[in-house]
Amino acid sequence: MSRVVVCGSINADLVVKVNSLPQPGETVSGSGFARYPGGKGANQAIAAAKADAHVSMLGAVGADMYGAELATFLAGSGVDTSQLLEREGVPTGTSLIMVEETGENVIVFVAGANATVDDASATALKLHHRDVLLAQLETPMDATLAFFRHGKRAGAIRILNPSPAAELSRELWELTDVLVVNETELAFFTGHALSLETSEPELREARSALAGVGFHGSLIVTLGANGVAGLAGDQFFGIAGHAVRAVDTTGAGDCFVGCLAAQLCEGVELDAALRYANAASALAVQNHGAGASMPTREQAEAFLNN
Ligand code: ADP
Repeated sequence: MSRVVVCGSINADLVVKVNSLPQPGETVSGSGFARYPGGKGANQAIAAAKADAHVSMLGAVGADMYGAELATFLAGSGVDTSQLLEREGVPTGTSLIMVEETGENVIVFVAGANATVDDASATALKLHHRDVLLAQLETPMDATLAFFRHGKRAGAIRILNPSPAAELSRELWELTDVLVVNETELAFFTGHALSLETSEPELREARSALAGVGFHGSLIVTLGANGVAGLAGDQFFGIAGHAVRAVDTTGAGDCFVGCLAAQLCEGVELDAALRYANAASALAVQNHGAGASMPTREQAEAFLNN
């Protein structure tokens, strides 16, 4: 049975609502507090598991309350956490998020245990041909490299969601089969922003730019409410977004990437896999929280077929 194997971050997102963001030295009263499971790795693993894939998570939490809670939440969402590491002496990764009524926010991210993910933890699982590997950039790049090298040796598909965007080594570009980026990340890597009506020539140009740094795989660009565009070999895909009332777009990209991995793992064609991921993400933006709002397969299929 092929699996989705995610090597990435696991975070506790602590979200405070305020009328207006405090200035340095100022104390303000918050109007709400919530704790959400987060971290791009964990979010994507949960999205893939909810899309009915067999998912294993490689990563690390601290030996603290949040770590235990997150591990339980991952397992409860159907993710295999048997390889998850519990590190002594470092906190579980945490994001402190303050959101103003206007939607404006400030975020402080503490990598904590995520920074301890190393080559050994990234290669802890025996991989199989047809497994799908998924990585982001919230855990150390060296570990991601080791993970993808390990995947290449096994003949597994490697999907990279290079977020938050950072310079990548040529080897990591070369090891990536499928690149999933949003418009901001694409602009970071290619130096060119896409137009509102993203066209095939624009995507071809972007891919040519990426070929220069060593990327020769399929390029998938998520376009928020506008849906998704992709280029795989000679085939261009343009899929419109679903008209929905978005209440929280945090984690939309994570939902998309996790669902795409799950579909590719099942052997679904790219076009249909993108349509599924696009529909599932449109459902996710209608709920609060990232890890907590991933739709089930049943919900996504019902929405897609309506
Ligand atoms: P990120 O969260 O990484 O910035 P996007 O904003 O591009 O990623 O969103 C990822 C996907 O989620 C989109 O490709 C789309 O399928 C879906 N999505 C995001 N925002 C909306 C929205 N407002 N309405 C419908 N679908 C959305």
